[in-house]
Amino acid sequence: MEQPSISGKVRVRFAPSPTGQVHVGNARTALFNWLFARQQGGTFILRIEDTDLDRSEARYETQLIEDLKWLGLDWDEGPDVGGPYPPYRQSDKWQVYQDYAERLVSEGKAYRCFCTQEELERQREEALQQHLQPNYPGTCRNLAPEEVERRRAAGEPCAIRLKIPERPIRFHDMVRGWVEFSNEVVSDLIIIRSTGVPVYNYVVVIDDAEMKITHVIRGDDHLSNTPKQVALYEALGWEVPEFAHLSTILGPDKERLSKRHGATSLANFRDMGVLPEALMNYMALLGWAPTGGDREIFSPIELVEEFDLTRVTPSSAVFDFEKLYWLNRHYIKVGVPERIAEIAEPFCLRALGIDKPTSDVRTWLAHVTAALASSVNKLDELPERAASIFHFDPAAAIAAPENAEVLNTTSARAVVYIFVAKILAESEPISADRFKSLIKEVQKETKIKGPALFHPIRILLTGAQSGPEFDKLVPLMEEGSRLELPKPILSVKQRVVAFEALQS
Ligand code: GLU
Repeated sequence: MEQPSISGKVRVRFAPSPTGQVHVGNARTALFNWLFARQQGGTFILRIEDTDLDRSEARYETQLIEDLKWLGLDWDEGPDVGGPYPPYRQSDKWQVYQDYAERLVSEGKAYRCFCTQEELERQREEALQQHLQPNYPGTCRNLAPEEVERRRAAGEPCAIRLKIPERPIRFHDMVRGWVEFSNEVVSDLIIIRSTGVPVYNYVVVIDDAEMKITHVIRGDDHLSNTPKQVALYEALGWEVPEFAHLSTILGPDKERLSKRHGATSLANFRDMGVLPEALMNYMALLGWAPTGGDREIFSPIELVEEFDLTRVTPSSAVFDFEKLYWLNRHYIKVGVPERIAEIAEPFCLRALGIDKPTSDVRTWLAHVTAALASSVNKLDELPERAASIFHFDPAAAIAAPENAEVLNTTSARAVVYIFVAKILAESEPISADRFKSLIKEVQKETKIKGPALFHPIRILLTGAQSGPEFDKLVPLMEEGSRLELPKPILSVKQRVVAFEALQS
């Protein structure tokens, strides 16, 4: 068998298990691998680790590919694009793992283990009772070859275990420096189960070596697996790659980030109207900061230029949702309007109960987005921001106690009286400029200005005392009122008419 060598160009991989949604912790691992590969002019590989047959599902593989693409990552080799070291899905590689395991057994570096689950459990309990590390005691380590053959021939199930050397295991980590594990904490590990299924710690080494991975960048939940993997590289006589274990991501309460904290998967954030470039920018800052300075906004290209794996901190990063949303707002503001409108559209359509929008409806919604999106943190907040346009209810507007209080003042009555008359005399549609001059006229005629002038008018048209500027609202109301929608949008004049009808 060829002995893989890892010298040469940077080759890194992201190796998710298709057992669920891509969590931000894993997505950050994917991102750091991608940034490192792109920056070094190296190769980024996607490998599907589906040795856990009970939990792995093809639909999760499809979804994770979609989610990573959404985030803006691309890979040079993978199950969908192929590459020089196939297959890129572990379940397609069983025989290879078997062959290497047999080689290790024949070289005396691994051995067959006949211990049953019950025996192992009993040994474990005994060790724990004596306050010892529950290591495998090596029961089958030195069985005579004849006994092994006899028991195998008798059909006794057996696993294959690797012999862990009786010395500390060291490896280099780009984030943590040299890491050493004493041999007391690493015991002979199973590499192939008695069912014939190989285990993660084993297949990961075979794959990383065969795929000529130079740097293994992954979450620090794998730190304690690494000595086992290093022992495997050594047993196989292969060069050990560089490692970089990324710190755990914590929630705002400093507990490990989980569903309990709310949105945690790429799909969750996408469904909230978080832009991929905002999420990428934010995730890059989880454990990494640029040299000297507190710059926070980085486009993907800038990240590729500036990112430095050696500056990644080993201490945990706290996921700050507010900061992500702040960045998202920035990217919404600077985004190409057509693209932002396209992303925002489904949120608005859902709020309006529209299945198939006409091109006029889509144009109107693009105008709604252009006018209002810069004041939301996430695009799923847009319908709420546009609520006074989308779901205006004149009766509720007047009845709300805080509004009734404003409308019942003498000055408000004067403003409303004149304003209503002026709007009723208008021919539709009313432009933003025309609306502005009408308000000026009301101000002149009533001599009322500021909140006393604007609040009653705003209540009458929107149902609230504050909200987006009239300059933005009026054209959107006028344009929306000309569309055929499940629930019609009221024009400025229709709002005034509805108000009048309720007064009498
Ligand atoms: N399949 C492993 C995981 O998802 C990959 C670990 C590794 O990168 O080695 O955690």
